[in-house]
Amino acid sequence: MPEFQAAFFPFANLNNTIRLRQGRVLVRLSDLLESAPDDVLYAIAHILLAKLYRKPMDRACEHRFRQYVTRKDVSAMAHRVRQVRGRKRIASAQGRVYDLDAVFDELNTRFFHGLLARPQMTWSRDHARNALGHYDPAHNAIVVSRIFDRPQVPRYAVEYLVYHEMLHLKHPVRRRGTRRCVHSREFQADEKLFPQLAEAKRFLKTL
Ligand SMILES: [Zn+2]
Repeated sequence: MPEFQAAFFPFANLNNTIRLRQGRVLVRLSDLLESAPDDVLYAIAHILLAKLYRKPMDRACEHRFRQYVTRKDVSAMAHRVRQVRGRKRIASAQGRVYDLDAVFDELNTRFFHGLLARPQMTWSRDHARNALGHYDPAHNAIVVSRIFDRPQVPRYAVEYLVYHEMLHLKHPVRRRGTRRCVHSREFQADEKLFPQLAEAKRFLKTL
């Protein structure tokens, strides 16, 4: 039986880790679980040990753990902790061609009476084509795919992507994830106010 060392750790999310180092088992549990009932902690201990020793996991333990972490109050707490501690590596708003802060500020003046608070504006690190732009509520960040930071991309296409995400700020949807978009009738009506909507949509199709 190896020596055990277990501690709660302020992870940015509900992480739990287990490692075997020089004959000692080192366990770190998310401090979000400090107030978890004993049977939940027991379930996590089982899951971590099964993982470490590559043994089958007990279904009841898996179920108990999942049941606890998906509880409304627990997931809400995890969300708040992620907001405070999660430090996503935010790249600069200033790209090689377009400055997203400037695009946001200009659209804010033109369409929102300057009333929207500017979130973190950032170019995605990769050149993702599947996610052209999205709003990340946990980090209060608008992320635009770097494929748009090129001279051959018209400014209205970048503006349209940012404008769309700004409408998500204006029309918040409860329980909206990072990827899922919900576009209400009011949202769609506002989107039609963008003058080059048709051109922008046509351009996006050429990508
Ligand atoms: Zn959307």
